[in-house]
Amino acid sequence: METPPSNLDIVILGGGISGLACGFWLQKYRPEQSFCIWEAKARPGGRIGSRRLEGYLLEAGPDSFVRQRPAMNELVSELGLDTRVCASSPQNAGTYVCGRQRLQALPQGLHLGIPTRPWMVALSPLLSLGGKLRLAMEPWIPRRANQQDESLGSFVRRRLGEEALQHLIGPLVGGIFGTDLEDLSLRATFAHLADYEQKFGSLTRALWNNPVPPAAGNFFSFPNGMQELVDALQVRLSSRLHTSMTVEKLGYQDGLWQVYSPSGGRLRARQVVLALPASESARLLKSCAPALSGMLAGLSSSSAAAVHLGWSRGRVGHGLRGYGLVSRYPARRSLVACTWSSQKFAGRAPLQEVLMRAFLRDSESLQVDEADDQRLLCEALSALRKPLRLHGQPNFWRVERYPGAFPHYHTGYLERIQSLNTQRSQFPGLHWVGPAFGSGGVPACVTQARQWVEGLDSA
Ligand SMILES: Cc1cc2nc3c(=O)[nH]c(=O)nc-3n(C[C@H](O)[C@H](O)[C@H](O)COP(=O)(O)OP(=O)(O)OC[C@H]3O[C@@H](n4cnc5c(N)ncnc54)[C@H](O)[C@@H]3O)c2cc1C
Repeated sequence: METPPSNLDIVILGGGISGLACGFWLQKYRPEQSFCIWEAKARPGGRIGSRRLEGYLLEAGPDSFVRQRPAMNELVSELGLDTRVCASSPQNAGTYVCGRQRLQALPQGLHLGIPTRPWMVALSPLLSLGGKLRLAMEPWIPRRANQQDESLGSFVRRRLGEEALQHLIGPLVGGIFGTDLEDLSLRATFAHLADYEQKFGSLTRALWNNPVPPAAGNFFSFPNGMQELVDALQVRLSSRLHTSMTVEKLGYQDGLWQVYSPSGGRLRARQVVLALPASESARLLKSCAPALSGMLAGLSSSSAAAVHLGWSRGRVGHGLRGYGLVSRYPARRSLVACTWSSQKFAGRAPLQEVLMRAFLRDSESLQVDEADDQRLLCEALSALRKPLRLHGQPNFWRVERYPGAFPHYHTGYLERIQSLNTQRSQFPGLHWVGPAFGSGGVPACVTQARQWVEGLDSA
């Protein structure tokens, strides 16, 4: 690995997609800036990582991306990956809700659980007649006068009713954020829904006026998984990306940032970008910016775990015609969702086998960070065995862990980030990007990185 020069314009800390994308956009739009990326692990990509094992293609973290954000599409094109992109299998589009040991298909045409084709919900057994009538009243529910942040739970209950929350929106959204929907900030997660209400007075009218493109529900990846994106970025960034370089702490003196490695190496830069989890940023800033570090440490997050399960097709009684299942809301046990990976994308499992990935979160009976792998496997199997009619044991299983990986977007989160940004402005040249400071997801990280580069002049 090449040694980085000791004085640079910019140093980016963290080589996950946020840090890699910052480097990519800098190279493209600000080629005059000297920069490097320091990544602690031997391989870049952070949460993203795909590997082949016993004929299965396993995703460590994200298994797909959506294509609604222009920055994501631009990145994919610029990396020459357009011809590599593969869409999720259209014949399997759809998701099930796992109720009392039984699966029921979610109606087609939901946008974040909100019906765009109301007649599909009318035919669904998921809602009672009363629940459907309440949903149909949505256009006549008055818009909220108070424009302060509201929880997603309160918003959905108010506009669409309790049943829509429990059977449509809750199951789809509940498992993603790891925060009770009664405390999940609407403005931080689905601001466009709040805007729809204010602008159109109704979500139904808004979706009628802004039809969701039919492809919006599609997911995309690559034949060899999400790793292809990271590999292409690694090639593009070349010697500017330094792996196995853990940053130990940061210093700030005379308008320059000092980045220390455990071996005593020191790098100086005018600007530093923290593309790290908030807790790690807090640790690095502890000695040079204790107040800011304390505020960062106060941003909470939650953990999850996933169990990859490989089965012989003949041992799975369910038809698996979908991308997976989500648990009813509020979830009673640890299983929040299960992706049927080999049904979602081709080439994820050997012939006559299926690959699935069960997501587990903390529940009354299980703390995912404390449970051993065997316990997590048992939990996944006991939740899935009946609804999927699984027989015998899986041919293959692996556990992935995500300690503290999911930032909490509590109500009032945006105000908190605003105060953090105000405090940060006392330190010229300090920047941050990533899910803790905006929205999560690969396309959102890529977009944030580009916005950061676009704002560099005024930084
Ligand atoms: C299980 C799971 C499934 C997901 N599924 C999807 C999906 O399907 N689609 C989607 O769009 N999004 C998905 N996401 C979200 C998405 O993965 C994240 O939003 C995104 O990858 C975050 O990238 P990041 O670069 O900000 O952070 P990370 O990927 O966490 O990268 C941070 C990097 O910083 C490095 N680092 C930490 N400390 C130091 C240090 N001291 N010095 C140097 N380097 C350091 C780490 O090694 C790491 O590489 C998923 C997330 C998880 C956990």
